[in-house]
Formats: sequence, C-alpha cells, structure tokens
Amino acid sequence: MESEAVSRNFIEQIIDKDLEEGKYDKIVTRFPPEPNGYLHIGHAKSIILNSGLAKQYSGKFNLRFDDTNPMKEKSEYVESILEDVKWLGADFGDEFFYASDYFDAMYEGAVKLIKKGKAFVCDLSPEEIREYRGTLKEPGKESPYRDRSIEENLNLFERMKNGEFPDGSKVLRAKIDMASPNINMRDPVIYRIARMTHHNTLDKWCIYPMYDFAHPIEDAVEGVTHSICTLEFEDHRPLYDWVVQELEFEHPPKQIEFAKLYLQNVITGKRYIKKLVEDGVVDGWDDPRLVSISALRRKGVTPEAIRMFMDLSGVSKANSVSDMAMLEYCIREDLKMKAKRMMAVLDPIKLVIDNYPDEESELIEIENNQENEKLGTRMVSFSKELYIEREDFMEEPPKKYFRLFPGNEVRLKNAYFVTCTDFVKDDEGRVVEVHCTYDPATKSGSGFEGRKVKGTIHWVDAKTAINATVRLYENLIMDGDEVLKDDYSNLNPNSLTELKNCKLEAAFTDTKPGERFQFLRNGFFCADSKDFTKEHQVYNRIVSLKSSYKPNKV
Ligand code: ATP
Ligand code: MG
Repeated sequence: MESEAVSRNFIEQIIDKDLEEGKYDKIVTRFPPEPNGYLHIGHAKSIILNSGLAKQYSGKFNLRFDDTNPMKEKSEYVESILEDVKWLGADFGDEFFYASDYFDAMYEGAVKLIKKGKAFVCDLSPEEIREYRGTLKEPGKESPYRDRSIEENLNLFERMKNGEFPDGSKVLRAKIDMASPNINMRDPVIYRIARMTHHNTLDKWCIYPMYDFAHPIEDAVEGVTHSICTLEFEDHRPLYDWVVQELEFEHPPKQIEFAKLYLQNVITGKRYIKKLVEDGVVDGWDDPRLVSISALRRKGVTPEAIRMFMDLSGVSKANSVSDMAMLEYCIREDLKMKAKRMMAVLDPIKLVIDNYPDEESELIEIENNQENEKLGTRMVSFSKELYIEREDFMEEPPKKYFRLFPGNEVRLKNAYFVTCTDFVKDDEGRVVEVHCTYDPATKSGSGFEGRKVKGTIHWVDAKTAINATVRLYENLIMDGDEVLKDDYSNLNPNSLTELKNCKLEAAFTDTKPGERFQFLRNGFFCADSKDFTKEHQVYNRIVSLKSSYKPNKV
C-alpha cells in the first residue's frame, strides 16, 4: 500500500485527500485552450494529464475553448484543436464548451461584486493604472475613483456595457488591496471596453472580462473541481480564490499548478511557430519538423507513443527539460511490434547477379514482423537485378566493414548468399552497378546451415520496385541552440532531406496515407497524409532505429 501511495504524483495525492475528506463527489477536470493557434506537444501534456485524471477517478473531463479575447481567435483553430484532442484519445464526452457562453454569468458576477462593494469603475488611463500599481518593493496607490458609491458603479458599469463610453476610457476593477505584496491583488482590472467582433457572440458585447476574472468563473460554472494549470499562474491563485469566494460558489474549484513540459532544442511557443509558418520557412502548422500535434500526427507519431512519453516524463512542480530522444524511444517501443517490417532502398545502386537466369523470377515468403506473428507474411519477388543501398558496397572497405566489397560474401536478407565479383563506375567515378554471383544452395529457409557470413543487407527486386520520395528530418534549429534567432541564422540547413529516387518492394502498392512501416535497417516511416498518392508515394521518417536513450524506468 505504501509504495502505491509514494508512486502517486502530487496532484493525485491532492485529489485523494479531497475525496477522503468528502470535499467533492466527483472529479471534474478541464483543458482550456485559447483558440489562437495549433496545439503542440506541451498542450498534449495538459490534455493527457487532465483527461487521464478524470478517467482514473471515474470523473468528467471538459474541453473548453477559452475565447474571452476576441482579438486573436479564429474558428480554424477551434477545428484543429478538436481534431487534435480527439486524436490524442482524450474523452471529453458528447459536448464541448466556449468560455464566451458564460459572458452573461461573468457580467452578473461583476454586478454582484459591485453590489458587495468589491468592485469599482475606474477612469484612470492604462498608463496611470500602471503607475499607480507600484512595484515589487513599493506598495501601489489607490485610485481616486476607488470610493465611488455602489449606485454610481452600477450605473457606470451598465453604461459601459451599453456602449456609452469609448474603448479604453473606463475599466471595472476588483477592490482588493493596493498594498498587497502580490501585485495581482492590487485592484486588478476585471472588465475592459473594447469594440471587437467576437467569433461566437459577434457584436453583442463591447466589454470583455479579463482572464483572471473569467477563468475561475468558467471553472466554477462547469463544476470543475481541480483546475490544473502551469506554474506561471501560481501568483494568480490568490486572485482565483478571491473570485470564487466573493462570488460565493457553493463548490469552489481549486487551482493546482504543475511544471510545463519543456523539450530540449525544440520550438514550442505558438508565437515562434506562427512566425515560421507565416514566413514560409515550414510547410504549414503540420510540417513534420514542428512539434504541433498535427505535425507529429503527419510525421507518423502515434498517440500511444505520446502518452507513454508523458507517463515517463512525469508530473511535477519543478521545472525540468525533457529530451526529444525520450519521445523517440517511446515511438520505437510502440511501433516495433505494430509496424510491418518491409524493404525499401533509400539511396539505390543496382546489384546484378550474373549467374541468376535472365528471365527468371521467384517469390519468397517473408514474415512481416519476426516478433509479431499476427502480422502474417507476404510474398516478395526476387530476380537477377536488385537494388541495394549505396552504402552497402565499398570498393575499398575499412576494417570491420562486413557488407559488399570485391571478393566478399554477404546474405541478402531472407534470400541467398551472394559474393561480389565486380563493379561499374560512371564517368564521374561514382559506382552505379555492383556485380555478384549467388549460391543457389544458400536460400534462406531452405534448411541451409553451411558457412557463416558476417553481413546481411536488404534489397528490392528491380523488376517490381515502386519509386518513392522519402523525407528525412533533423532538428529545425542547430544542435545546442535553445531558441530560433529572428533572422533564422541558426536554422539547420539539413532539417529536411528529400530523397526522390527511393525503391520500395512491391508490397507497398497498397499503402494508404497515414500508414506506418518499419523500413528494414532505415527506421520507421509513415505515408504522408498531405502529399502521398498511389502514383507518387511520399513517406516521412518518423524516427531512425538507433537510439542513444536508455530509460531508467518503463
Ligand atoms: P503558448 O504559450 O505556446 O503560446 P499557451 O500555453 O498560452 O500557448 P493555451 O491555449 O493558453 O496556450 O494553453 C492551454 C493549456 O495548455 C493551458 O492550461 C496551459 O497551461 C497548457 N500548456 C501550455 N503549454 C504547456 C506545456 N508546455 N506543458 C504543459 N501544459 C501546457
Ligand atoms: Mg495562454
């Protein structure tokens, strides 16, 4: 029992205690994205955490669009967020919410505060409000409008709502404490006048609530019990608590902060991604070099791998940086049993088997995944001319090179042993063709247990090969850099390599966009969901096979 308690994260411990004390009957969590951009892997952390807790405690998980700032919001983002949250497997039930649906409740909340003498209309300019606010060392100064009567405040606030005053000329402020050591508590602005058309409420409102006032009301109205957010809101918690207390909600929600997911060497900020997209540096929000959820999906990452990554990276109050290599490890772990292992040659040269009959072809039965019988077998054609990887032949091999070189024998994966006899170069001295002879007695699966060879290479039958484009990715920014420079001087020039002459075995004919494979020896790949067609196949490398990452717990 004890070890179980120890392994629970700090949020689970808080919830356990709340349930024990009978504070709540049922846990309700939420994910409140602002529809002002696409979601990224950091948001996935919050989605998986919140939906996971709801599931674990048989509670409810709400998806709510935090659309209280009409300036930056777009319906396009709402669509993409819905798709991403569903794809991650987070169950938000049959409906989702908009914070703007509660604008009436927020207005009433503000009126309630005024009636309690806890809010006032202030005519100071934004600059004056900033001046009056004070600093970390000095207390603030009270606004000269602070002591307006309740009647006057009610009247002015209503007229603010009715559009009688110009934008920015008045605000509604909470009346808390200008001497508070927490600047957020120094009579914060809770409503402003701004004539903006809102994507949901259109022109109904010309006053909009501020985030710190709106958010606790949204949570409370939905019956959220645990409002889990990231650490930068820690200093806002007293205001959150003040709002739910002053508005006398029967079951006030509780704010809990945790540390954001940071990834080493990876761009996650919406601002930066937006700029990359707008400047045309990447191919849209779903460019596989990005870590937006749509980009990870397009690249071929599975939701299961993302969940496993979130499990491994844990939930904590202390900031830390996670490694992309850990996500890659999770992708390999997830796909190694699920994906068919097939042969694809990325940088082809011809291998001609001189003693193989000219017109002959044979079909070899090959297991789709040696570790997972359920994936069955397929027939792969073999004939006199094959494609092999350029790097699997060397004219003058270094020590410990066990692949093809003149005089050396290797195994062709699942087929025969061949011995290299000769090679042909073009005018520029590049090897274009390798010649060999095969030993018919060495056919794999024929019971041959003769001599050993040290190297095994993969191949694709030239007669039936499919042409494909394969995209390989590296980090978008140069290794070692944390942020992308504004002038893009630290962009990695090799972030995208497009190989246009790859040769795939015939079984790839039936590939559908989004399908994932292991290309033997080359990594895990996914048929691109945007550019893939039957006639022009395009694959993205999700991850290579090699890993430097060793997990300490799985
Ligand atoms: P950005 O800072 O990238 O522009 P944001 O974090 O402000 O975006 P929101 O739409 O406000 O975007 O975020 C929705 C939720 O996702 C918030 O509750 C926020 O705390 C959470 N979140 C955002 N980034 C991360 C992260 N890196 N790790 C964990 N949670 C995150
Ligand atoms: Mg935000």
